[in-house]
Amino acid sequence: MNFNITLLPGDGIGPEVVTEAVRVLEIIASKYNHAFAFAERLMGGCSIDKFGSSLTDETLADCKSADAVLLGAVGGPKWDDPAAKDRPERGLLALRKGLGVFANLRPVKVHPALIDSSPLKPEKLEGVDILVVRELTGGLYFGWPKGRDFKDGRERAVDTLEYYDYEVKRVMELAFTLAKGRKKKVTSVDKANVLESSRLWRQIATKIGKENPDVELEHMLVDTASMRLITGPAWMDVVVTENMFGDILTDEASVLAGSMGMLPSASLSESASGLYEPIHGSAPDIAGKGIANPIGTILSAAMMLRHSFKLEVEAASIENAVDATITAGCRTADLGGPLSTRQMTDEIISRM
Ligand code: NAD
Repeated sequence: MNFNITLLPGDGIGPEVVTEAVRVLEIIASKYNHAFAFAERLMGGCSIDKFGSSLTDETLADCKSADAVLLGAVGGPKWDDPAAKDRPERGLLALRKGLGVFANLRPVKVHPALIDSSPLKPEKLEGVDILVVRELTGGLYFGWPKGRDFKDGRERAVDTLEYYDYEVKRVMELAFTLAKGRKKKVTSVDKANVLESSRLWRQIATKIGKENPDVELEHMLVDTASMRLITGPAWMDVVVTENMFGDILTDEASVLAGSMGMLPSASLSESASGLYEPIHGSAPDIAGKGIANPIGTILSAAMMLRHSFKLEVEAASIENAVDATITAGCRTADLGGPLSTRQMTDEIISRM
C-alpha cells in the first residue's frame, strides 16, 4: 500500500527522534511491501526563524492533504518571550485545530523491566495499562473571549471554558469504542461539582454509558483522578477527559512509565488521517547530544500504522520489538543506560 506522510521534526530533540522513527518505518515498508513517501516541513520555532510564522498556510495545507502527520516536538528557550507575537505552541494548537484532531490518545503502559525506573512503589505499578483519551480542540485553550485588558483600573486576564454537546459526544463515543477492545471500563473525568461545562460533560457521558451497557462507566472528579493515578493506577482502563484536565493528567501518568521519552500519542479526526507525536517536548537540555530516547516517537509511528493506515500486524511488530529491546536491558540515558538515540533504534530494528 502507498501512503504520504508529512514529517514535522520541529525543534530541539524533535529532528533527532523523528529521523529514527523514519528509519523504523522504512524497515516496515521494505519488509511488508509498502511505499511510504515522506515530505519534511518546518513547524514551531524553526518555522518562526525561517518564515516568521510557527505554522505557515502551505505547511498546514501539506499536512491536511497527507495520509498522516508525524511530529517531533516544538519550542525552546529561544522562542519563550511571552511578548512575542508568535510562539511555537501557537503553531501546534493551530495544527490540531486545522486538522480537526479532536481526540488525543495516550497509552500509558508500564513495562515490567522498567518498574524500578518509576518513582512509585513497584506494587502500585504492576498491571498498569491505561489509555487516556483527551479532548483536544475545545475547552479552555480555544474558548472565546480570551485576552488581557484593563477594567475598573485593574489589569484583567480572561480565558473561556466552553464545550458544545457534539464535541463531548464524539470524544466520549470514541472512548467507549476503544474500551470495547480493552477491559471494557471507562472513567470519565470532570469537575461537575463546580463547572457547568463539566455538568454537560457528565450528562453526555451518562447517556452514552446507557447506550453501551457492556462497558462499565464511572465518573470521577479531576482532583480524585489525579490522586488515583498515583495511588491505584492499575484500576484504570480508558480515562476520558476534557482538554486541560487531560493535558495535566497525561503528564502525571507519564511518570508511571519511568520516562517522558517512552510515551507515544495519536490525535485522531473524523477522517482516517491523524497527527502522531511523542508526548515529550523539545528537551533543550539534551538537544544535539544524540542521547534522546527515540521510543516515544517510534511507538507514535506504530500508532500511525494502526489508526490511520489500518496496518495492525506492522504496528504490533514495532511494539513487540520495542518490548523485546527493553526486556533485553537496552537503555538510553533517561533510563540510566549508555545507549545513544541511534544505538537504541539499531537495537529495536535488529528485533523487528
Ligand atoms: P520536555 O518534555 O522537553 O523535557 C522534560 C524533561 O524530560 C527534560 O529533562 C528532558 O531532557 C527529558 N526528556 C524529554 N523527552 C526526552 C526523551 N525523548 N529522551 C530523554 N529525555 C527526555 O519538557 P520541558 O522541558 O518542560 O519543555 C521544553 C520545551 O518543549 C518547551 O519549550 C515546551 O514549551 C516544549 N514542549 C513542547 C511539546 C510539544 O511539542 N508537543 C510538549 C511539551 C513541551
